Amino acid sequence: MNIAQLLEDNRIFARKVDKRLLERLVEEGQKPVATVISCSDSRVPVEVIFNQLELGKLFVIRVAGNVVADSSVKGSIEYAIEHLKTPYLIVLAHTECGAIKAYLEGIRKGEAGKLLSCIKIKSRELSKAVIENMELQVKIILEMGCVKRALGKGEIEVYGMHYDLGTGKVNILSKNGVRTV
Ligand SMILES: [Zn+2]
Repeated sequence: MNIAQLLEDNRIFARKVDKRLLERLVEEGQKPVATVISCSDSRVPVEVIFNQLELGKLFVIRVAGNVVADSSVKGSIEYAIEHLKTPYLIVLAHTECGAIKAYLEGIRKGEAGKLLSCIKIKSRELSKAVIENMELQVKIILEMGCVKRALGKGEIEVYGMHYDLGTGKVNILSKNGVRTV
């Protein structure tokens, strides 16, 4: 794969895509059904794993380790809740997360280190640490003013979910900060 091939694949997409849908989304704007905060990992392409390949379905925020570190993520969440009014907010963790692995290995160098320093996890085992991190990020989200307001009005539900790279399945682990399994 090189850049020319990447562009060629985009042209294939542009030829195939539903032109009426493109027009409608440009004219009417987006109304996604869910906001998903996911890891940047290429093995977790959110639209693909939820089988939501039609444009305009998911508002996706991706950052290594699905870490809600600063206003780049929080601002995007706020926009999704206050302007797009997405009824579901999902933190999507995944097995074998490289960011969490790096955290457990004590890597704190450079910009990635700054990102990882926002995490505080007790578990030393990767699979448990991934879930602990998901719970931590859900907690941070639940403390955001716009999320509290939307929850108070019954406008949103906040889910902690976990994707298994080996099976392709997503499971719900918590709803509004309460464990469901
Ligand atoms: Zn990851």
